[in-house]
Amino acid sequence: MRAKFSEEVLSDRDNAEMASIMRACVHCGFCNATCPTYQLRGNELDGPRGRIYLVKSLLEDDGVGESTQTHLDRCLTCRACETTCPSGVNYSRLVELARPLVDKKVDRGRVDKIKRWLIRLIVPYPRRFAAVLFLPQLLKRALPRVLNELIPAKENLLPTQKQSNHQTKMILLDGCVQQNTGSNINAAAKDIFDCLGVQLLSNSASGCCGAVSYHLGEIEEAKHFARQNIDAWTEALNTGAQAVVSTSSGCTVMLKEYASLLRDDLDYAARAKRVTELVRDPAEVLDVDLLGEFYQVPSSPRIAFHPPCTQQHGLGVSHYVRGCLKAVGFELTKVSDEHLCCGSAGTYSLLQPKLSRELLDRKIAALGGDAPSAIASANIGCLLHLRRRAPTPVVHWLELIRPHRLGGR
Ligand code: SF4
Ligand code: SF4
Repeated sequence: MRAKFSEEVLSDRDNAEMASIMRACVHCGFCNATCPTYQLRGNELDGPRGRIYLVKSLLEDDGVGESTQTHLDRCLTCRACETTCPSGVNYSRLVELARPLVDKKVDRGRVDKIKRWLIRLIVPYPRRFAAVLFLPQLLKRALPRVLNELIPAKENLLPTQKQSNHQTKMILLDGCVQQNTGSNINAAAKDIFDCLGVQLLSNSASGCCGAVSYHLGEIEEAKHFARQNIDAWTEALNTGAQAVVSTSSGCTVMLKEYASLLRDDLDYAARAKRVTELVRDPAEVLDVDLLGEFYQVPSSPRIAFHPPCTQQHGLGVSHYVRGCLKAVGFELTKVSDEHLCCGSAGTYSLLQPKLSRELLDRKIAALGGDAPSAIASANIGCLLHLRRRAPTPVVHWLELIRPHRLGGR
């Protein structure tokens, strides 16, 4: 992409990085074909190529306004465009760098500001989130359907088994939202890993991965969460923990960002880099042959797997989950347009409810096309979002496997 950026603009490191990302774009437009918002709206500015032009105008200080902010806000940061792009344009990095810059130039409306502030005030803090959920969960059944759908059902906590003290240890992220809406997921991970000879270590001093703040452009706040987690894990890492595992792929992708996020922090840069290097999706570290030896489903239930965007486009590891599910005996149904986002996308469903809902309805139709008995996924946001409309149970893939441990092993 040809662009004329001033020396002054390029003297800023983030601007220079954005300019370099944009230069890789050859305007081919292949990315529009797989962009969910372009498909919904058919507007060039709601596709990746158009948004790249908007960021170019931002750096050229040429006509940046509310419309720039609106079109960047509509982007799910799902990264489907990155998977499609033949030139390897790092689109998500470009948008993450551009958003805070746009927010400095364009004032947000009051309602939008309050929404964003409330999300940051509540969502990353499990106790606050639990307090906010308490009454709506109690009244959930009495609420009209449109409100009922928004409130996650209270979880039935399954009994946890005592973990053995294995030589192989890995750190497990507790997370934030998942603590109140999906505790059985980490319990399932601990049981399965334990059975396969790996001890997963939790540390209550860790918390939100920082993704909520990061995606809302609050970079300093995201750094605070990252430092908190790094501090909580330092001892375990120093005593031999071999990996940092997260059962929510949105968090896994964020943990991978720690090295870049804290690269200028003299106290944390080296430790952040170490965490980034050790971050893994559970499916990457599970021994699939061993898993198949210890866990088997009696008949081959047909399930639909929804690979979260963060897992398929961000981490590129969703094929490992498929391998694990097949090894245990599940039959995976055909799902059309698998690359498209379900509309959850972190805080997107709260900030862009209309687009999010349209994507959800399309995704539910695609997942149900081959008549599965359940839907499996790998990210708490996607699970909660899909449950709003799915006619079948929606569960984390580790929860699907957990009950099928072969007797006596
Ligand atoms: S990240 Fe997703 S929504 Fe955003 S431009 Fe790329 S494909 Fe479209
Ligand atoms: S596919 Fe890649 S190179 Fe082509 S327009 Fe999109 S971002 Fe640019």
